Amino acid sequence: MIRKFIAMINGRERPLHDRHFLMLTSLAIIGVAITIIIDIIIGENIVEIAMLSLTAIMSPILTFIFYKADKLKIAAMIFAIFIMYVLLPTVFIFGGGIFGGVPLWLVFGFLYLGLTIAGRTRTVLIVLHALNTIALYIIQYLFPDMIYKHTNDIMYLDSIASVIIVGLLIYVMVLFQNKMFIAENEASEERKHEIEELNRAQNRFFSNMSHEIRTPINTIIGLNEMILREEISDEVAEDARSIQGASNMLLTLINDVLDLSKIESGKMEIVPAVYDVAEMLSDLVNMIWSRAREKGLEFRVDVDPEMPGKLFGDQVRIKQILINLLNNAVKYTEKGSVMLSVQCRAKEGGMVEVTYTVEDTGIGIKKESIPYIFDAFKRVEGSNTHYIEGTGLGLAIVKQLVNFMGGEISVNSIYTKGSAFVVKFDQGVSDDTLIGSVDFEKHRSSRERERYQQSFEAPHAHILIVDDNASNLMVETKLLRSTKVKIDTASGGEEALEKTLKRRYDCIFMDHLMPGMDGIECMIEIRRQNGGLNKTTPTVALTANSGSEMKDAYRKAGFDDFLVKPVIGAQLENMLLKYLPRELITVLDNEADHAAMTSALFRKNRGKIPVIISTDSVCDLSPDITDSLGIPVLPYHVITEGGVFLDGIETDNDGIIHFMENDRKMRPHSDAPGVSDYEKFFAAQLTKAQYVVHITMTDKASDGYKNALNACSVFDNVKVIDSGHLSSGLGLLVLYAHNLAQCDLSLSEIVARTERARDLANTSFIMDTTHYLARSGRLGNRTDVFCTTFMLHPVMVLKKGNMKVGGIIVGSRHNSRMRYIASAFSKRSDIDRSVLYIVHVNSTPAELEEISAEVRKYVDFEKIVYQRASSAISINCGPGTFGLIYMRNERQEN
Ligand code: ADP
Repeated sequence: MIRKFIAMINGRERPLHDRHFLMLTSLAIIGVAITIIIDIIIGENIVEIAMLSLTAIMSPILTFIFYKADKLKIAAMIFAIFIMYVLLPTVFIFGGGIFGGVPLWLVFGFLYLGLTIAGRTRTVLIVLHALNTIALYIIQYLFPDMIYKHTNDIMYLDSIASVIIVGLLIYVMVLFQNKMFIAENEASEERKHEIEELNRAQNRFFSNMSHEIRTPINTIIGLNEMILREEISDEVAEDARSIQGASNMLLTLINDVLDLSKIESGKMEIVPAVYDVAEMLSDLVNMIWSRAREKGLEFRVDVDPEMPGKLFGDQVRIKQILINLLNNAVKYTEKGSVMLSVQCRAKEGGMVEVTYTVEDTGIGIKKESIPYIFDAFKRVEGSNTHYIEGTGLGLAIVKQLVNFMGGEISVNSIYTKGSAFVVKFDQGVSDDTLIGSVDFEKHRSSRERERYQQSFEAPHAHILIVDDNASNLMVETKLLRSTKVKIDTASGGEEALEKTLKRRYDCIFMDHLMPGMDGIECMIEIRRQNGGLNKTTPTVALTANSGSEMKDAYRKAGFDDFLVKPVIGAQLENMLLKYLPRELITVLDNEADHAAMTSALFRKNRGKIPVIISTDSVCDLSPDITDSLGIPVLPYHVITEGGVFLDGIETDNDGIIHFMENDRKMRPHSDAPGVSDYEKFFAAQLTKAQYVVHITMTDKASDGYKNALNACSVFDNVKVIDSGHLSSGLGLLVLYAHNLAQCDLSLSEIVARTERARDLANTSFIMDTTHYLARSGRLGNRTDVFCTTFMLHPVMVLKKGNMKVGGIIVGSRHNSRMRYIASAFSKRSDIDRSVLYIVHVNSTPAELEEISAEVRKYVDFEKIVYQRASSAISINCGPGTFGLIYMRNERQEN
């Protein structure tokens, strides 16, 4: 019974105030009962004892009745009034007034009212109780004879008993409160967790749904395009165009829903890169102009000639914002014009504020509707809008994207006359050459070009399309039929790998999400396939995942290009034009596409990637990573008594460590490649890229930087960067530079940002034993013995290009490792959580698991990469060594 009662008070079924009321009333009854016993013992006034007894008997009965009737709020009010105006005045008058224990019960009264009554009534009752207390004190002061007097002994006894009883009641109450507080907290955490889980599930659902819907739309759009290519009657063509319009509408809707869910779940990324303003604007003009013309609207573009030609920002998102606004302008305008104007204002720190204004002479928006137009799924209801198709998502996405980019959006509209949407955000200036006056006229696409026109034939080209979905394969094959390209298909990774063993293809289109081996895995396998004939075949990802960040992800994974499904014939053909060998292509005499064709061929002919990042074999990136990312690696030399070997090619870590463990006298060391090695290496890279950025390890640790610098003096297009780090920090920096190169940054930008990032790579190692340092002559033998005896483990950190002992950790192997991890992370708040490299020498999988589990207690890295240390580290530090290598975030400068 008591347990049930306590569980009910701790449980969350009843409202908080009810639980407070029940708890406090029961405590008060217990307190009153004890007081009665003490009062009888010490011989208190009989009226006080009678009143207390009445309270002790009636309270539980009334509480029970009200509890059953579920009217505890009323009970609390009745009890409060009874306590204030009957109980406390009576015990005050008959219990010695202020000379006894009653003042403490007056205090308890405040507590009782505070906790059991809710809302405004509580304030009123607290004020009344305060007035009541003052009144009682005044009565005693003015009419002392009215108050029953205690003997001295009773006064003391009554006071002490009340102090202890009220004190204990307060103590127990605080305990309960605490417990309730913790339970409430846990419950709200649980709720938060549930909501997060629900959100994740919702996002997963959206993302899966989008993928699933795109696949059938791919088929609809593709086959519909085939119908439009045929000689068909006008009526059928009209129907097919309606199908095209409806499918595109459906696609926009899916993209919008997906974008919104990405923004809301914080997954939307802004991927800034250098972009050509005129090119971006002409893409937009191309898209909108024909739509405006179809409706008989004039479309004008006015660009500030003072605008820099190249800016740094996320042009994909800017385009998305402007396309939405321009589409709306066209959609909601029946006659007149739509205008896009772009203004620019220089700001400090190489930035400009760009203002885009999209103006129309359309239906306008009523003043009272303006606050709602940016809400998702809100459309303005009105006789003139209900016939216009839309979902109400466009402006919600625009608003969120603008906010996300730190910009502002405002709208000015006159109902029935037109609207103007103004978007402002800051962009970096990459090249201050001014845009000047741009003639968008020449960029406009002609109506004719909207119709399919085959651009080339390549009957001797042979390509492979990999997709698990049979109808996708069928559509893509049909769309390319007129090019006469020979097409093989594979319905999965395994089948593709069988085919790439047997034939060399000129290009591969690879679906990303496939059951079993996915497209990325399959592409990597093809590139390193034993005896494979397609290690260098250009491979284009075909994906149902849209989003600008995907472009980067596919490039990083090693794809040459990517296309988002549903693909149309022209996109597939353009890709082939870009990647098929020129001698296989027969250009069809086709005026309209000639320009596009030559530019694609020109791109192909240039063939070279703009910037390639290369490094030395002492860099801690596994061949898997460097191969798949296309980072060329120049091997160091490993010099042993048995001869000189090329690091990573003729020897590996396991081999060397094995040797060293078997032959304790063996002292291998590594040496940098010579100047002529670097020269040959750079020359080879320049056949593939216009510029080479070669990153070496710190010049304090090897001659690599010096030799590379010497070698690069004979080339115009090679830049050597001293990473200032040993192998592992070097690895991080190489990846960093490679990512910059993938974002199409200029050479100077890549070099400047990589040099700035030098100080952000954090490198440290803990050594299991000092034997290897002793063997390489870096540590005296006695110190080695000392360290081993007292279980000292040096922690090496990289400072200003030198590896120094950053600290010593004492203890067993296990404890010292755990302490090293704690000291590496516990005080740092600026860690870039995207990736942690755990670089190790011969650690077992179980040890690595243990290390990463410990790491996760401090920092939740998005990715942990286990990396075997280079031979150089292995030789000098020995087995059991491991290091935690990560980047710190760049400090934001205002
Ligand atoms: P929708 O898909 O309905 O166009 P949006 O989020 O893009 O959704 O726009 C929300 C609402 O704002 C529209 O339903 C429309 O009533 C109003 N609106 C947006 N742009 C314009 C415009 N240029 N002129 C008039 N009304 C507009």
